[in-house]
Amino acid sequence: MHRLQDLRQSLPHGGDPVRECDILVVGAGPAGSMAAFTAAPHCDVVVLEKRAHIGVPKQCAEGTSEGLFEKLNIPLNPTWISRKIEFARLISPSRITVDLKDERVKQLKFGYVLERKKFDKGLAELAARKGAEFHLRTQYQGLKREDNHVVVKARQFNEDLTFKAKIVIAADGLMSRVAKDLGIDSTTNLRHLESCCQYEMTGIDRESCIELYFGNEIAPKGYAWIFPKEGDVANVGIGILPTRAEYPAKYYLDKFVNWLGLSGEIVEVNAGGVPVSGPLDQTYDDNLLIAGDAAHMANPISGGGIHTAMLSGKYAGDTARKAVETQSLDKKTLSEYETLWKADFGRELDMSLKGRFILEEFTDEDFDATAQWMNEKGVGQLGAVDLVKFALKRHPTFAVKFASFLTS
Ligand SMILES: Cc1cc2nc3c(=O)[nH]c(=O)nc-3n(C[C@H](O)[C@H](O)[C@H](O)COP(=O)(O)OP(=O)(O)OC[C@H]3O[C@@H](n4cnc5c(N)ncnc54)[C@H](O)[C@@H]3O)c2cc1C
Repeated sequence: MHRLQDLRQSLPHGGDPVRECDILVVGAGPAGSMAAFTAAPHCDVVVLEKRAHIGVPKQCAEGTSEGLFEKLNIPLNPTWISRKIEFARLISPSRITVDLKDERVKQLKFGYVLERKKFDKGLAELAARKGAEFHLRTQYQGLKREDNHVVVKARQFNEDLTFKAKIVIAADGLMSRVAKDLGIDSTTNLRHLESCCQYEMTGIDRESCIELYFGNEIAPKGYAWIFPKEGDVANVGIGILPTRAEYPAKYYLDKFVNWLGLSGEIVEVNAGGVPVSGPLDQTYDDNLLIAGDAAHMANPISGGGIHTAMLSGKYAGDTARKAVETQSLDKKTLSEYETLWKADFGRELDMSLKGRFILEEFTDEDFDATAQWMNEKGVGQLGAVDLVKFALKRHPTFAVKFASFLTS
């Protein structure tokens, strides 16, 4: 293997080295670093990241599930965790609260509020220790297929770089360009783009509980959240569907902060988008795998995408490694990747997308009535059949949709 630094030194001044590798990953978020971590012990892996600091700025409320790290066999570094979460609380427009405790919170896949600046970098460090070569402040510019390879152009500071890879893993997030450049349209339709704004605030003393607020005045076709971090710090944020809202996300966030009378100081502002369309129809092609947000794998209801980014990254790394070892870089071989991620979380994304469309039709009265009903029934006792029965009474048309997706 010839690292880029070695190639530069061996060339006469002004030479344009081509760094050949087995797998080129674009993006060092959870999907990209996980792919690199998985493949690097077996193959020559290069990662390009446009940012100077991995994980900075964070564009995330940082909540994720407890079982994820065990499932992926990733040693959970305590410095990645800002707060361990005990349960979730749903709050309706009239402030009826429903506490989801124990098993329920596990199903919702929230177990920690992470410190993503440390977590994203920590994951990259794990991949680097396995042998992956990282290029920071290196922006992917474009690519073309050549014979059985892909030639990638990138810009590092003021320098143009060329890479030649057998497989490219597109892990370049929501605004992904890599897949598009190889002919797979990965643009997120505005109808399926959740727009988010978040303040990290001091002075928010909360239990170890994530709070989710629903209502059409509060967060049109989305929800608002308070995710407590260490001490009195919390992520206070909102996600809305801009196509169904009158104002930008920041307007609703400021209104929400005033409504709750939160008086702490804002120490960080984060904004970003989440693709809530459900996954791309095709997440692989000749020489190409697409993972995480680039493949629209965030959960369409919660907007959570750390878990699917890491899982898809792992499957992409595994599939790419096998393809390199067998020298089969065609889409038929690489389709194995889609089989793997679909078997793991395909149904979760499918169900959530259908659920999202139902929730989008909820009025504020529906949210209140649902919260009241959940408390009367006792959340620990609720099953799918209860949900359908309740929906039947309230909205027969929703109930039919509910029943069809619960049984699909
Ligand atoms: C406000 C907000 C709150 C959220 N809250 C949560 C939450 O609480 N829990 C949860 O699970 N999910 C949450 N999400 C979603 C979550 O952040 C994403 O799903 C997750 O980060 C996806 O990981 P990824 O690796 O696919 O993409 P990203 O984390 O976006 O990483 C992509 C990487 O690619 C790099 N890149 C992009 N273009 C290029 C280029 N041309 N060249 C080189 N590098 C490039 C980027 O710099 C970035 O580092 C939230 C999102 C937002 C916006």
